[in-house]
Amino acid sequence: MSTDIKKIGVIGAGQMGNGITHVCALAEHDVYLLDISEDNLAAGMKTIAKNLGRAVKKNKLSQADMDACLARISTGTSYDGFKDCDLVIEAATENEELKKVIIREICKVVPEHTIIASNTSSISITRLGAQTDRPGKFVGMHFMNPVPLMELVELIRGIATNEETYTAIRELTEQLGKISVNAEDFPAFIVNRILLPMINEAVYTLYEGVGSVQAIDTSMKLGTHHPMGPLELADFIGLDTCLAVMNVLHEGLADTKYRPCPLLVKYVEAGWLGRKTGRGFYDYSGDEPVPTR
Ligand code: NAD
Repeated sequence: MSTDIKKIGVIGAGQMGNGITHVCALAEHDVYLLDISEDNLAAGMKTIAKNLGRAVKKNKLSQADMDACLARISTGTSYDGFKDCDLVIEAATENEELKKVIIREICKVVPEHTIIASNTSSISITRLGAQTDRPGKFVGMHFMNPVPLMELVELIRGIATNEETYTAIRELTEQLGKISVNAEDFPAFIVNRILLPMINEAVYTLYEGVGSVQAIDTSMKLGTHHPMGPLELADFIGLDTCLAVMNVLHEGLADTKYRPCPLLVKYVEAGWLGRKTGRGFYDYSGDEPVPTR
């Protein structure tokens, strides 16, 4: 175990937060998981147990290790649980104002040595770090979805991030069994700078009637060997997150090529956020996803 980082706090029990909690606890860290919603905390813990259970069934993990992993996780809605954390990873909804409030709250309770990281997909680490009383100890730690399966973590230094912090986070990433890449603090970093404009273009392709949902996804899967079609992937990421990232690219780089597709905006306005709400470019209410256009 990394000697400096023992207990880890995670904020947000959604698809990313529960995945981060899962990999940290499996790597023998005590984890405190916070959310504003008790329901989401319960759902997050259920997902972690389900995913660990799957590993047990495949003989990749023993039942005893699964039980020990779950026992290392505590949950709650109070920031007091962060008091003895060496690292707090923020993984709440992709909204800059919300993240700023959360980050200021973390600073009120954590000890001086605590590192604060954000799992933001796109927002400036320098701007978020400036909200803290410790910009040197603030860093971007961008996990990929689903966290237990994806190998990559992008690490992002804000302008003030110090080397000690960056090195500690790089070592922790390795200890979690992940591979890190360094990305500079530009809107959406590396993965989403490339991925999200492609997804947005797929939505334009649908919006302009060039192809149906099925035609677009089949084209990209069979024509370019992408494991998931771009619209299927958008539903998996969450359309609210996709739109938030496109807005950050559009505003941050001031280039019209990043303009979010109006159809993506409409879906988010309708609350059709993809898999997590049961409907996006596909309808997930039945046994198999059904294209909606
Ligand atoms: P999600 O919608 O699944 O979960 C967000 C969670 O944050 C919810 O449980 C919500 O209750 C909680 N939350 C909202 N406001 C809060 C507050 N004030 N305090 C505490 N908790 C609060 O979203 P997600 O997909 O897990 O995304 C979370 C973060 O991870 C975002 O910054 C997103 O950009 C980033 N991210 C997402 C992906 C992806 O593929 N979805 C990949 C990498 C990074």
